[in-house]
Amino acid sequence: MTTASPSRILIVDDEEIIRIGCQRILEDSNMVVDQAENGRAGWEMIQKAPYDMVLLDLMMPEMGGLEVLDEVQKYDHRIIPIIITGFATIETAVDAMRKGAYDYLPKPFSPDELRTKVNRGLEKRWLMMQAEQLREERDRNLLELTNEKSRTMTLINCMREGLIATNRPGHIVLMNPAAQHMLRLNREKAIGSGVSGLFGNAELEKQIAASLETVTRTTTVTHMEFKTSDERVLHSSTSPIVDDQGDALGTVTILIDVTEDKKVEQMKSDFVSLVSHELKSPVAAIAGYLNLIIDGLTGGNPDKEREIIVRSRDKADGLLMLINDLLDMSRAERRGASKVMTPLDVVPLLKETVQFYQNEAKAKSITLMLTAAETLADILGNSDDLSRLFANLISNAIKYTLENGKVEVSACVRESQVEISVSDTGIGMSREDLGKIFGEFFRAKNALARKITGTGLGLAICRRIVEDHHGHITVQSELDKGSTFHVTFPVHKNN
Ligand code: ADP
Repeated sequence: MTTASPSRILIVDDEEIIRIGCQRILEDSNMVVDQAENGRAGWEMIQKAPYDMVLLDLMMPEMGGLEVLDEVQKYDHRIIPIIITGFATIETAVDAMRKGAYDYLPKPFSPDELRTKVNRGLEKRWLMMQAEQLREERDRNLLELTNEKSRTMTLINCMREGLIATNRPGHIVLMNPAAQHMLRLNREKAIGSGVSGLFGNAELEKQIAASLETVTRTTTVTHMEFKTSDERVLHSSTSPIVDDQGDALGTVTILIDVTEDKKVEQMKSDFVSLVSHELKSPVAAIAGYLNLIIDGLTGGNPDKEREIIVRSRDKADGLLMLINDLLDMSRAERRGASKVMTPLDVVPLLKETVQFYQNEAKAKSITLMLTAAETLADILGNSDDLSRLFANLISNAIKYTLENGKVEVSACVRESQVEISVSDTGIGMSREDLGKIFGEFFRAKNALARKITGTGLGLAICRRIVEDHHGHITVQSELDKGSTFHVTFPVHKNN
């Protein structure tokens, strides 16, 4: 067996005739051969050029063969040393082999003997190099494999989705922490056990079993949703794991906790049916009124017709108000990047809003006033939203206060909170209604009884805005005495 490039041999012998003889024979076999006349010269050459093999005479002046052998072994164990020796020193040659020489050539030797031993030595070197290369490759692969494996496990363990894998007989072989948490299962208990009866959910267990049964090459994923014992909703997708022949090796199930999504979905559909109901009734009323005129049921009486038209207009105004509130609501809903929060002082916003509502208050002879220092500590807020909040509270106070009443707006800082109060001497609310007024479309009984128009959305919008600003909104009220709304926001920066 030969390597691609010619082998390099060094002959170290003080007998020139041996050196020349060996060189000629080996060069005929396509080897590159150098000579050194003693141990020291040989050792120096070994350190300068990469030799595959060194032929070493034992008895040499300056540095003996054993000494060179010793150095070579320490220097590069891949250099194959062959000892050349006379009869007298055969025991030393055996000793040298014990010390690591590959073989020995007793003098005199024939060209064939030389060739055979050198070739055998070179073959041994080639095999040694191959083995070393394979070992290095294996070590490298093993390292990559270990890295890959731990990377994959880290990923699986960090997933928010639950992952469960079973083997062919349906025993759990892998379960990540998310799955354990979702199913409230102990990993130690789960690994190795069968799925039947484990999840406390027959449907999921059946899904996994069915997945193992119905394996085809075109693998199918089975989805389902189920409730856990603690009322959370989980979505599961189970698919079979198949080998190249299409045989099932097991199953893999991904679990996603969709409890929150379900809640939002439910809230959305409740909201949509509420909105459609609220929109439908005024439109139906307008259509009804118009039909009265069209069908001639007013008997052409202009006063009656005018009354019907005025009622239709009022309903249309109500609709417009509702649509505006719905738009406000969707604006208040929009969170995140689109909502810019900046440090701001609420006093200028309150001043502006109070100023804006002065005319409306005057029309009902209501005193509307603001009590606040010129500046207050900043809060972190969105000025559009906060203006909407103050406008809702102040307009409500005016709307639900009878003529000659009073509406007082005040703002101050207390215990790292900016406090805003809107207080009125109006119709107030019953204790029973008080707890419901921040919900969508709720209107208190006394407001309805007095035929004060409204949508029931204003305070729901206020609550969302306040929550977005990490604040609180509360209300105190007494029927026929008045109401006070308190809003607090955390101070962002003292001015
Ligand atoms: P709207 O005023 O359009 O009906 P809101 O959501 O602003 O809707 O208010 C919900 C309900 O709370 C009102 O219908 C009313 O019954 C009651 N309310 C709100 N503010 C006051 C107030 N200042 N005084 C008395 N009742 C109020």
